[in-house]
Amino acid sequence: MFNKSNIPAQCRKLESRFEDCLDGVSDTELDDHMTRCEHCRSALADLRFAGELLREAWDPAGEPGQAFLANVMARIQREEIRAKSPAAFWTPLEFLASRLSLTAAVVLLALSAYLVEFAPQRGVSLGSVRTELSAVDFPQPPRDPVSNEEVLQSLAERDNGR
Ligand SMILES: [Zn+2]
Repeated sequence: MFNKSNIPAQCRKLESRFEDCLDGVSDTELDDHMTRCEHCRSALADLRFAGELLREAWDPAGEPGQAFLANVMARIQREEIRAKSPAAFWTPLEFLASRLSLTAAVVLLALSAYLVEFAPQRGVSLGSVRTELSAVDFPQPPRDPVSNEEVLQSLAERDNGR
């Protein structure tokens, strides 16, 4: 039997002709090889099935009989195809799509939690910035009891002097 990681050179060479074969191009060498090679038979079957899926996706209004047949085949072959063909690539995407709405909800929740957590801090930092700015803009508030007393004293002296 053939190992997937050790595909015979003849199979590699013939794989490039699979598409022509699917398009209906007669290829006696490929047909002959197919009768003897399990690997290429299943590979071509996968390719043909993938093509049917794509055709169905692009042309959903095709003949009902063919669509029904494709759906039945899809159900039968889905697990097998996902396990061993490039179509398995789509499985994580389907999973991702099904999770997308949930993910959006989680992101929204995390965002609101972030806002609740950090909005007060931002307010405090803004307040301290304002305090620093006002200290710079108005550098002469009453500084200490001594200066207050001096101001009161000077006022009193001025009143007395009048
Ligand atoms: Zn082969």
